[in-house]
Amino acid sequence: MKEKIEAVRMAAKSAFAAAADLAAANHAKNKYLGRKGEGAALFKLMPSVDPAERGEAGKLLNELRQELEAVCEAKLNSLQPRSQAASIDTTLPGRDYFIGSYHPLTVVMREIIDIFRGMGYRVADGPELELVKYNFDMLNTPEWHPSRDESDTIYLPNGFVVRTETSPVQIRTMEKMQPPVRIISPGRVYRRDRPDATHSPMFHQCEGLYVDEGVTMADLKGTLLSFYRQLFGQDTNIRFRPHFFPFTEPSAEVDVTCPFCHGKGCRVCKQTGWLEMGGSGMVDPNVLAGVGYDIEKYTGFAFGLGIDRMAMLRFGMDNIRLLFDSDVRFLRQFAGMQPK
Ligand SMILES: [Zn+2]
Repeated sequence: MKEKIEAVRMAAKSAFAAAADLAAANHAKNKYLGRKGEGAALFKLMPSVDPAERGEAGKLLNELRQELEAVCEAKLNSLQPRSQAASIDTTLPGRDYFIGSYHPLTVVMREIIDIFRGMGYRVADGPELELVKYNFDMLNTPEWHPSRDESDTIYLPNGFVVRTETSPVQIRTMEKMQPPVRIISPGRVYRRDRPDATHSPMFHQCEGLYVDEGVTMADLKGTLLSFYRQLFGQDTNIRFRPHFFPFTEPSAEVDVTCPFCHGKGCRVCKQTGWLEMGGSGMVDPNVLAGVGYDIEKYTGFAFGLGIDRMAMLRFGMDNIRLLFDSDVRFLRQFAGMQPK
């Protein structure tokens, strides 16, 4: 038995040593380690071995199997990498990988925040699921006002709405502190709107609020002029058009000279030279009194900016949905874009 084991060992080792490729190595593996191979055949001889030598023979057989398995594995490993290397086509072009970048909305939002921080404003945040009380009542919006209509606003049970503006953040902030208050609140807002090129049921606003002693409409105008000049350039001008908003009195819509034609008239501004940028006004005394401020002492102004519209203008987009489709092919155009 010992001689037979030794013979198989020698034959198997030289077969593995001689195997020059995977096929030959696998062939040797089958021949010596397979279920019907020569190793298995030796095990089948065990019953015929003299019982006195059987223990010794069993030990030798196990050692043989372990040794051959090790030899076989080493051989297969040594052949594997070479065959893989052969399958790599070095003439293929390299695979470029994409480095993430800021979303266009983030770029614009950070620019806005940066400019207002420079003017002493701090960023305030609030919930997107808001109490009706904060979204409408405390912003002086009467029960009959169309913005409260269910065709515009998404109502939730228990006195909640999905906020229609970021203005409730102003109320929440004023409730917590006394003037001077100087905040901006950028964030998502929601309206029941049929999506088209310029409307989306979810969009982004940045609200601003300044309350202190002796704040006037001139401060509002100066602040917005400074903001738009920093954003669009020093030759930018603004104009106010009278308007109505429930939470400001007086109220004004703000137009800005078109940054594309510098007021001369072009396709973007529909030849008017002006672009409508958002609402503003002096905070209605009812709103200030509602949060417990002394309205004999304090006045304030508020304004709203449409972040999506600014991003569209800035990057020359004609469809708001491009901002929300998360189409990476589109967003890659802005790779490397940094806030100014
Ligand atoms: Zn223009």
